[in-house]
Amino acid sequence: MKSPFLLSCSFLLLTAAPSRAQSPARWKAHDMARPRPPVVTPTRQALPVPAPPDALVLFDGTSLAEWRSAEGGPAKWVIKEGAIESVPGSGYLYSARAFGDVQLHVEWAAPVPPRGEGQGRGNSGVFLMGLYEVQVLDSYQNDTYPDGQAAAIYGQYPPLVNACRPPGEWQTYDIVFRRPRFRPDGSLVQPARVTVLHNGILVQDGVEPWGPTAWLQHLPYTAHADKLPLAFQDHGNPVRYRNLWLRELPEETAPGPAKPDPRPVVNLKAASLDRYVGKYRVVGEAATTYTVSRRDRQLYCDFQYNPLALELVPHSEREFSLRWTAGDVDFDLRADGRVAGLSFRLGGETRTATRIE
Ligand code: MG
Repeated sequence: MKSPFLLSCSFLLLTAAPSRAQSPARWKAHDMARPRPPVVTPTRQALPVPAPPDALVLFDGTSLAEWRSAEGGPAKWVIKEGAIESVPGSGYLYSARAFGDVQLHVEWAAPVPPRGEGQGRGNSGVFLMGLYEVQVLDSYQNDTYPDGQAAAIYGQYPPLVNACRPPGEWQTYDIVFRRPRFRPDGSLVQPARVTVLHNGILVQDGVEPWGPTAWLQHLPYTAHADKLPLAFQDHGNPVRYRNLWLRELPEETAPGPAKPDPRPVVNLKAASLDRYVGKYRVVGEAATTYTVSRRDRQLYCDFQYNPLALELVPHSEREFSLRWTAGDVDFDLRADGRVAGLSFRLGGETRTATRIE
């Protein structure tokens, strides 16, 4: 008979066996068994899409001045018929400038006639910060692993649908990219976030890559610069790009406490608070009334429409502010201590209300 010690040891051996590989996607990368996104035929778009006035145009059909080779020299891709064409074997194409958070517009076309199959047909890619690839592939009637088809975040997120146009037709990517954030010690604060519309159809809905994209490899984040060049992939196929523009996005405001009100908060005596309590009718808006109430030592006002009345923060016996909203309430406090009305300031407008109860 086994002793209790041996039993517990065999239990440990069982639980110490290697667990099955865990993937953030619940699928291993490049799994052909993964369900295919449904095909949605995009409707006709008016192309090219004009750049907004505040956009930086990276390619207008005439010049490669904004582009460099992988070695930093002149771009090795070529201009043909107003488009940049990938030159097989020339290496990735890099933007001369570096970018972080962007809205990026890309128009691309896969080669005609189509050659090759799967990953070999019309393969290129938009590498945000040179690290995070939105796959470019001729996915029109061309099967491959879903996390590697057109508009996939390569090896990580298949697109929600396959919105690919036939090869040779111009198609669009509109990409909103938020870069990952790192602490000074290099640890990750916030992963990158990517939204993509393919031919006007949402295909990536704010997904968070779990690291740089790669073939075969599963790469964790490693701290990098806040801005890095944009890159287009040379995957050996003469994919074309045109009308490339982007808008640099402002930093996202980190969540945190609101800017404090510079006015001091005063403590009003509980006994004095009841003089504010009552109903007030807005001057010139007979149907609008505000009800001021008190719970314990706190005053609230419903501004007619708020079943959960809003907290009033006292700065003096007359001046109050809203705790969460940039609004002020000034009470009309008379010499005899009676409150006759109030005025409510919000958004550059003032409403005056007379006390009716
Ligand atoms: Mg690619």
